[in-house]
Amino acid sequence: MISSRTIKKRVIQYGADICGVAPVARFSDAPKGFHPCDIYPDCRSAVVFASHFPLGTLQARTNAPYTLVRNKMVEKVDWISFHASDELETKGVVSVPIPSADPYEYWDTDRNHGRGILSLKHAGVLAGLGVLGKNTLLMNERFGNMIWLGAILVSIDLEPDPIASYEGCISECTLCIDSCPQHALDGVTIDQKLCRERSNSYTKGGGWVLSCNICRKICPYHEGLLKKQRKKE
Ligand code: SF4
Ligand code: SF4
Repeated sequence: MISSRTIKKRVIQYGADICGVAPVARFSDAPKGFHPCDIYPDCRSAVVFASHFPLGTLQARTNAPYTLVRNKMVEKVDWISFHASDELETKGVVSVPIPSADPYEYWDTDRNHGRGILSLKHAGVLAGLGVLGKNTLLMNERFGNMIWLGAILVSIDLEPDPIASYEGCISECTLCIDSCPQHALDGVTIDQKLCRERSNSYTKGGGWVLSCNICRKICPYHEGLLKKQRKKE
């Protein structure tokens, strides 16, 4: 039987920077319709991983590089999910790749609110990859919130990873909430409608641009929790 360690090593070899395993039992609080077994009824484990989003994209004076890198991160992470799933099936393990961004099926037109078929941020928490910040982004100890998440759902029980025990947000910090020009953050959730009005824009030539990343950039932990803590020492 293929081990948790072997699968995680292969996912890293395919280009992920971090990878963890969550048994399906950890998803008991998932909303109806968004549980791993709603996607793949025989799912036993979720293998969740992330690739590092280059920090330089936050230094640019235009959001074009950030948009380019976001699009490449989607391609990269989906490529990893596709190839890891394909390889696992040659070893007799059924594996369902989860899209890292699109397509998603749930859409609430009134609220301009979409939802992935599986919440990768919550799956990341359950697989030990980090903790959720008040900006609703997953924060990892090495990479902070500069990560792009992916996952595959597999048909076998795998040794789980421990859930992260480090602290996330600085308790009194509200920087991301206060800095959001749309007041879209309340410390727990994000109002997608308000956020999209600001963060989705089009150039005069019709190109799509992700035009806001303030809540990611303003976070003192965007470079990683450990790096920031070491700087304080
Ligand atoms: S991306 Fe911009 S508009 Fe959207 S929540 Fe973050 S700071 Fe607010
Ligand atoms: S800016 Fe502060 S409150 Fe927001 S996610 Fe970062 S540490 Fe948490």
